[in-house]
Amino acid sequence: MVERTPGLRPGGQAVDARGVAKEVIGRMGLDAEVRAACTDTAGAHTVDADGKVLETFRADDDGGDGFIADIEILRGDLSQVLYDDTRDDVEYIFGDRITELAQDADGVDVVFAGGGRRRFDLVVGADGLYSELRAMVFGPHERFVRPLGHVLAFYSVPNEFALDRWLLEYQDQESGRSVLLRPIQDATRAMAMFYSASPAGDVGHRDVAAQKRLLRERMAGLGWLAPDILAHLDDTPDFYLDQVAQVVMERWSSGRVGLLGDAAFSSSPMSGQGTGLALVGAYLMAGELAAAGWDADAGFARYEARMRSFVEANQEIGRLNARSRQVPGPDAEPLPDFAGEWFTELVGRAINGVDLPDYAAVPDSAAPAGSPTSPPAGP
Ligand SMILES: Cc1cc2nc3c(=O)[nH]c(=O)nc-3n(C[C@H](O)[C@H](O)[C@H](O)COP(=O)(O)OP(=O)(O)OC[C@H]3O[C@@H](n4cnc5c(N)ncnc54)[C@H](O)[C@@H]3O)c2cc1C
Repeated sequence: MVERTPGLRPGGQAVDARGVAKEVIGRMGLDAEVRAACTDTAGAHTVDADGKVLETFRADDDGGDGFIADIEILRGDLSQVLYDDTRDDVEYIFGDRITELAQDADGVDVVFAGGGRRRFDLVVGADGLYSELRAMVFGPHERFVRPLGHVLAFYSVPNEFALDRWLLEYQDQESGRSVLLRPIQDATRAMAMFYSASPAGDVGHRDVAAQKRLLRERMAGLGWLAPDILAHLDDTPDFYLDQVAQVVMERWSSGRVGLLGDAAFSSSPMSGQGTGLALVGAYLMAGELAAAGWDADAGFARYEARMRSFVEANQEIGRLNARSRQVPGPDAEPLPDFAGEWFTELVGRAINGVDLPDYAAVPDSAAPAGSPTSPPAGP
């Protein structure tokens, strides 16, 4: 496992696990650990500019698979649980990344930025929306990353808002902007999130100063607690802003290189399902490769066949959610009727629409191990 950052990154946004993703967490034997690290959010209130509650969604709505799911955990806390469970069996290399890669019929030669060179039987790119591995093997980002034309930003703030176990969201329908405050386990702080239904322009995804400027401009005049939250932009220890985008690819593998998670099929934060897709995808990729005796072509093909329609349902939800937040122009297509049965069916497919075979009986003792051809790279 090669991670570019020097160590695990704490915090981040809260991610929800629903339906089959919960099942995968259970099969990994991590249900108790994940639940112990959850945000313990009771639900969400939407509010008006004066803070008056308009709508309430509880964490136990829809069997715990609703808007706020009963498993809701900060991305960094989920990484920690997965890391703690695997660190004794998996070689982790922090602070390094792959810079070159060449495959032949029997394996993949990899060069690391830190200078190491190794050969592996398979390489899996799970390096997110702007996957460098995808760019190296499949082509430039522009071919696969589909911006939905919206911007999302979040950062933590002191909890000077008396936020308890309820998430609060204020939406300004007229301008397509919204701001929310989310409780986290550290009750002295809260996670703030801003959303704007218009594109990011050319702000680079690593230029934090420009991103903060953009956010201030975009959110000027937004009501409710927005000004107080924006006042913490310069003292927050963490900040993230990006365009809302999906990744659409015809294939998620090429020979001995496979893609997983946002790198292969980001459904965007608007689907609320990206982590679930990544977990379910990892389960199916590993299971199908093992079941195919580690034959890359057969294993990756079966993983893709099982995942495809599940991914498409979630991407459809992401696009619909983004559209519903847009300020309708004069020629805008009317929104579909979300009260219709088609939507209930789509949500059902997005949460549970994939079979999870039981791979427990598949012998994985033949699992190929990386064979170092030079000392491991990294610190
Ligand atoms: C605001 C927000 C809210 C969200 N809400 C939800 C939700 O409620 N439910 C849900 O399921 N999902 C949600 N998501 C989506 C979810 O966060 C992502 O879909 C999920 O994190 C994807 O996991 P991943 O492992 O594929 O990629 P990432 O989480 O992006 O992880 C990629 C990792 O690869 C590392 N990396 C990057 N480049 C390299 C490189 N070249 N070499 C080595 N390492 C590299 C990165 O540092 C990172 O650690 C949300 C996302 C956002 C932004």
